[in-house]
Amino acid sequence: TFAPAAVLVTGGAGFIGSNFIHNFMAGNPDCRVVNLDILTYAGNLKNLRAVQDNPHYRFVKGDICDAPLVAQLLAEEKIDAVLHFAAESHVDRSITGPEIFVRTNVLGTQTLLEASRAHAATRPAFRYLQVSTDEVYGSLGSEGFFTEETPLAPNSPYSASKAGADLLVRAYFETFRLPTLNTRCSNNYGPYHFPEKLIPLMIHNIMEKKALPVYGDGLNVRDWLHVKDHSAAIERVLKQGKPGEVYNIGGNNEWRNIDIVHLVCDLMDERLGRAAGESRKLITFVKDRPGHDRRYAIDAAKTKRELGWGPSYTFERGIAETIDWYLANQEWVTEIVSGSYREYYQQQYGA
Ligand code: NAD
Repeated sequence: TFAPAAVLVTGGAGFIGSNFIHNFMAGNPDCRVVNLDILTYAGNLKNLRAVQDNPHYRFVKGDICDAPLVAQLLAEEKIDAVLHFAAESHVDRSITGPEIFVRTNVLGTQTLLEASRAHAATRPAFRYLQVSTDEVYGSLGSEGFFTEETPLAPNSPYSASKAGADLLVRAYFETFRLPTLNTRCSNNYGPYHFPEKLIPLMIHNIMEKKALPVYGDGLNVRDWLHVKDHSAAIERVLKQGKPGEVYNIGGNNEWRNIDIVHLVCDLMDERLGRAAGESRKLITFVKDRPGHDRRYAIDAAKTKRELGWGPSYTFERGIAETIDWYLANQEWVTEIVSGSYREYYQQQYGA
């Protein structure tokens, strides 16, 4: 297996990147981790307090589109692998402002690939891993699953920009033989999830007794995976994956949005000592998101078969722990929702 001595993580101050850094550094204490993050609204160094003083960790505030900076970091840190998480990641924001999605997700990926190509010439064992999403495959009906062979058919500016990035990754393997790996994962949940996303949004609004906005009829289906299971899968792919390949990652854990909201309501009622059913009364159906994909479901059989990966969390345990994490980290949430996020929220939900 591939054993890197130094890795560059991009977007390590975001939700999945920060969870990955925690898990990876715990399991690979001798590997140096350089985190390149520009700290957009979604980037938060408080997610990384537990590693910030670790001598093997270095944070660099910078842009993945800054080619000289990326080249300099790869060379000076003798990077063996790039793990590319940085992105604009929220579908709703891609509908109101698609341009930054193309810049960060497409141009940013191309900048990293190009710098990696030059750097790989000096480090033969180098690997590049692209973290992507099942949303690149588009939407499913009530049957079937996405496999790695499913044609890309993105429907939102977000997923289109991620698909564009994935195709560049493929091209850098085919054209330049850059040793690339590409993971595509379903919806993640867990600690440090930005409160604009479904599960933390519900937890927060229930606390505040605010309306719980649910899109359309609430029957859109998503497959949910704990972020720690996603992190473990990425590490497997990095170390044992075959260059040029795509690996699907998923929890085989499909939920209709409304059922997730009900579950979170009920667990929160228990924890807050509220009457059963009280939080469900806050549910408000809002106008559906345009182009809202009906169902995502991932077939992760290849990743399980070839790399021996599988989720360790049951959803029951994962969601309960996540709710407890948010309740124990209210300060983290409050700081975020009191900043520029408030303006976004008002624009989106008008409340
Ligand atoms: P996030 O929005 O929480 O974090 C993104 C991070 O990237 C932030 O820290 C941000 O500051 C940083 N960033 C943005 N633009 C940058 C730039 N130009 N230069 C440097 N840093 C920049 O996102 P996330 O949910 O952690 O997602 C991480 C990756 O995983 C993304 O590529 C996303 O497409 C993918 N993904 C997410 C999910 C999910 O459920 N959240 C599922 C599958 C795949």
